[in-house]
Amino acid sequence: MADDGSTAVIGTDGMAALIRVLAARGRTVIGPTVRDGAIVLAEIADGDELPYGWGVELEAGHYRLRPREDGAAFAHSAGPQSWKTFLLPQRERQWTADRGADGAMTVTEDDTPPASYAFLGVRPCDLRAIAVQDRVLSGGPHTDSRYRARRERAFLVAVECTEPGATCFCTSMGAGPAAEPGYDLALTEVVDDGGHRFWARAGSEEGASVLAELPRTPTDGATETAARERVAEAADRMGRSMPPVDLQILMRDTLHADRWNDVASRCLTCGNCTMACPTCFCTTAEDVTDLTGDHAERWRRWESCFDLEFSHLPGGPVRACGHSRYRQWATHKLGTWYDQFGSSGCVGCGRCIVWCPVGIDITEEAHALNDERAAGAARGEAL
Ligand code: SF4
Ligand code: SF4
Repeated sequence: MADDGSTAVIGTDGMAALIRVLAARGRTVIGPTVRDGAIVLAEIADGDELPYGWGVELEAGHYRLRPREDGAAFAHSAGPQSWKTFLLPQRERQWTADRGADGAMTVTEDDTPPASYAFLGVRPCDLRAIAVQDRVLSGGPHTDSRYRARRERAFLVAVECTEPGATCFCTSMGAGPAAEPGYDLALTEVVDDGGHRFWARAGSEEGASVLAELPRTPTDGATETAARERVAEAADRMGRSMPPVDLQILMRDTLHADRWNDVASRCLTCGNCTMACPTCFCTTAEDVTDLTGDHAERWRRWESCFDLEFSHLPGGPVRACGHSRYRQWATHKLGTWYDQFGSSGCVGCGRCIVWCPVGIDITEEAHALNDERAAGAARGEAL
């Protein structure tokens, strides 16, 4: 690749410098770090805080840290949080209202300046998830101004996936393991006899100017080849896959499948899957007052379609049973999201599988629905 400054190789010193350079530009740097037995996303100030030497062991309803001998920092798949934690916070005050001495109410919109984030370690599936939320929250005529303000200021450092987890299926969803455009900088981690290093590519002007400030060497053939090979190998090592059919049509064809009863018998309707999912965006409003009634606040907080109140109308909840709530969630993710937003609502990160307390697996459910549809077709019956 030509050495035009848009690509380079950086070492672990360059990674530490990247954090310092982004912070010096006024950004709050958020990256992966080990905390409370998990790799979480948190503000970091130093390269030492990255999870060097830690990987994860994933299965349905199962997450464990495991040490790695190679010392890699990004050889772990999606953790319990996603970047929506920062772009669309779990709880956010919208406005306050105060009663003055004359009894008149004054409403003040919360105008806290949006944070200017640098996200370090955005996996390709999560890069896609951010693009999905961009379309939902700022792509149409009804824009979420707070989301958009944070998003416009965000600097994204993607790190390509070289170590998919047992619950990952981004390849099935066309969302990884290589990073698609949308990043400011993309990195691919390589640890081999040539050392521990990152192949870096700029995806924006600011990305190029940040890269120019880092200790670096020109891209060499051995590093580029090793980086490309590791990403290609990762595509073949996904732990899960979706059935190779049109999932939108599968969801449409199986609305009355027996499998929904089966999954409903296991689902706790706890909503963990929606909280962990990087594309779920539903929120609700909560109004609170102090004891005097002179001060009130409106807060926005995440909401889940598994919550009974979510579909509450004057006659009661529209989706009163677990069957209809799980079906609503899965068919929206894999089917009707296309009708609303022109893409799948699932990026194959596997979080909903890992963080489901009873290990319900959306890929297993899709395979079961596909099998039930095929069995029905073999009998000449539509579901
Ligand atoms: S699928 Fe799992 S995580 Fe989601 S609501 Fe049901 S039990 Fe909870
Ligand atoms: S539905 Fe599950 S696998 Fe798909 S994006 Fe959401 S959390 Fe990830």
